[in-house]
Amino acid sequence: MRITFHGAARQVTGSAHLLEIGDRRILLDCGLFDGDRSDPEGPNRNFTFDPRDLDAVIVSHAHNDHIGRLPCLIRAGYRGPFYLTPPTGDITSIMLRDSARIQRDDVRNGSLRDPSKPPSEPLFDLNDVEWLVEQFERLPYSEPKEILPGITLTFHNAGHILGSALIQIDYKENGKDRRFVFTGDMGRRAMGLLPDPVPIKDIDILVTESTYGNRELDPSEKLMKQLHAIVARATRLQSKIIIPAFSLGRTQRMVYCLQELFTNYKVRPIPVYVDSPLSLRLTDIHRDYPEAYTPEARRLMDKDPMYFKSKYVDYCETWDDSRRLNSVTGPAIIISSSGMCDAGRIRHHLRHAVEDPDNAIVIVSYQAEKTLGRQIADGAERLQIMDQWFDLNAAVYVLDGFSGHADRNDLAWWFEQSGGGIEKAFLVHGDPESLEALAPILQKQVIDPVIIPNRLESFEV
Ligand SMILES: [Zn+2]
Repeated sequence: MRITFHGAARQVTGSAHLLEIGDRRILLDCGLFDGDRSDPEGPNRNFTFDPRDLDAVIVSHAHNDHIGRLPCLIRAGYRGPFYLTPPTGDITSIMLRDSARIQRDDVRNGSLRDPSKPPSEPLFDLNDVEWLVEQFERLPYSEPKEILPGITLTFHNAGHILGSALIQIDYKENGKDRRFVFTGDMGRRAMGLLPDPVPIKDIDILVTESTYGNRELDPSEKLMKQLHAIVARATRLQSKIIIPAFSLGRTQRMVYCLQELFTNYKVRPIPVYVDSPLSLRLTDIHRDYPEAYTPEARRLMDKDPMYFKSKYVDYCETWDDSRRLNSVTGPAIIISSSGMCDAGRIRHHLRHAVEDPDNAIVIVSYQAEKTLGRQIADGAERLQIMDQWFDLNAAVYVLDGFSGHADRNDLAWWFEQSGGGIEKAFLVHGDPESLEALAPILQKQVIDPVIIPNRLESFEV
């Protein structure tokens, strides 16, 4: 087998890895790179392989850095199957339709702002997405399927977000049985809602993520105690808690944790508002798969008529619903997107909340450099929110343990579960510090030296 890393190599975006087994070519993920989508020279515009030569595409999970360029494969002439789990199929359809609409509006607004510039093209449109969705081949966890002659795919639960999969490919080479595994993104252990990542034995070749390879995150119990204290403070001060959260995964996790807090921890409930139309649609999909959650989570959610909803949780759909929250008096919790505060309705809630020292902002997601969310997490004194400056007086709490990514200990545990004897291993999807920190931990289970590949590097394995 030959493997070439076309993205997420020494960085965390643009996941895309090409496998060549004999004369068959299989692409794992096709994610969006961070950066300017409209840049004609940017990595999102051009493929570094020919999509028409592919025989199959396998998708690990529905985050944009893993699916964001799938419709571009259709545009470039790929007509084969896309293998994914049933929830990933549902979520991907919604995420990419949303992305197509945003790109269409961006192009329209861009030419309105500056008619002298030639209009930039969207990466893809709704037609491409509909065509893509037609090609989905949904495959549940733990059901091996021969996707090409002699090449068998099995998905295992990765516990990262709903539908996330560890990808196992079994094939024969030179008469020998070989097992290749790609982790996609792996979840944390013992986080309550989703099960732990499934261990896989007898791996010959491993490609693993490393996002938090240099970090130890707080355990669930400690996070819940911190959340408890923040909610109690808001009740005491009759104030608001603002939680910026990604619509997919983090929003549902936070709603679940708050329900858990109110039910199992006997914390006095306060109203929770989820203000994001995309979150609402994604939460509906989360209700369709009750079997995806841990038995404890199902027991808790069965107490309410609808998963991720209770008498304390309200979803805002329209702009009017959202605007009404401006006049809500505390105590109340508002969960809104985007997770890094650089777009979406969250900015309106921050404008109304950041100057009051009684309010709290709780950061539960990764915040990239230069985003408004990063400035808040770093405790900036003043914030520019949509062309206006505000003093940041509200209390800021950073609880990044709610992340959907395995930390160093979780990754070490999963590597150990493999039983060792891995022949070759590659670290992807991490910043340089995480990759370097994780390499010696992984090395304990691997025969050859662990490799941190560069983009477009190829290896015979
Ligand atoms: Zn992910």
